[in-house]
Amino acid sequence: MEKKKVTLVIPMYYEEKVAEECYKRVKENLEKLEKYEHEIIYVNDGSKDKTLEILEEIAKKDETVKVVSFSRNFGHQAAVTAGLKYVTGDAIIIMDADLQDPPELIPDMLKLWEEGNEVIYGKRKSREGESAFKLFTAKMFYKTLNALSDVEIPKDTGDFRLVDKKVVETINTLPEHNKFLRGLFSWVGYKQAPFEYERKERFAGETKYPLKKMLKLASDGIISFSTKPLKLVGALGILSIVISFILLIYALVSYIFHLNNLSAGWTSIMVAITFFSGIQLMSIWIIAEYVGRIYDETKQRPQYIVDKTINISK
Ligand code: UDP
Ligand code: MG
Repeated sequence: MEKKKVTLVIPMYYEEKVAEECYKRVKENLEKLEKYEHEIIYVNDGSKDKTLEILEEIAKKDETVKVVSFSRNFGHQAAVTAGLKYVTGDAIIIMDADLQDPPELIPDMLKLWEEGNEVIYGKRKSREGESAFKLFTAKMFYKTLNALSDVEIPKDTGDFRLVDKKVVETINTLPEHNKFLRGLFSWVGYKQAPFEYERKERFAGETKYPLKKMLKLASDGIISFSTKPLKLVGALGILSIVISFILLIYALVSYIFHLNNLSAGWTSIMVAITFFSGIQLMSIWIIAEYVGRIYDETKQRPQYIVDKTINISK
């Protein structure tokens, strides 16, 4: 009987400090699997340090290692999306390069897959070595996202997961460009199962997710999975109409009954004007975020550009 194949997809951005150790640990664990063949797809997301050189060296010696290298940095989600296009395995595992997602868990994930689950997603029981700020923002993000979006996106879930070939094929046929993968993997359905794990500290180097990238990921996540912010604009509009009616009635009553002298009401006018223009600008901003996203999609530009590939024949 032919052996089933496990594919690992690992994005790398400025990971020269972890690349070798990552390969070593991953390979060690893959070789222990007697029932499966394996391949490792590294996506170099435009790193300008030695990451690509190191990967080239590894790929020269080990033909199960494949490398896809971008022409510049296109971001973590784009890197994983690209990796998924090249997979040839039956079970695909997406993992970070920094060993925060322990490769020792691969056998457990495969077991869940053999039991018939098609999306097996890692749930972080604990997170070592991450700042209070990161933990807090992550928590807020999942709260907001789930309050706003129509699909349930399990909290404390990153991109560490095993998915069946079938699911990857589905994801690969989706035409949208800005893919928010952890949302899509939930959105596609299929048989889903969580598995809990302790998220380790980064092996070396620093996080490649500064606040700016986290905010982009968060807004991509919310905008691609919810139109509720647009409805919020409507709600704000109704709210401001109600408030202005109240102000109008107040002004009329004051005028008719000579309660107070409204020409002295400069402050109230200023407050009303600034309040309503605030609401308007905020609404325009929310709409602009969507229009921007629509504009991006209509341009039909690719989500990433592949500069070169190694050990890949298609
Ligand atoms: N990464 C990437 N492109 C980017 C940023 C990050 O490919 O623009 C990769 C990075 O090399 C790592 C993974 O995405 O393999 C997760 O990044 P990181 O560990 O820095 O994020 P954190 O764990 O701090 O959220
Ligand atoms: Mg990390």
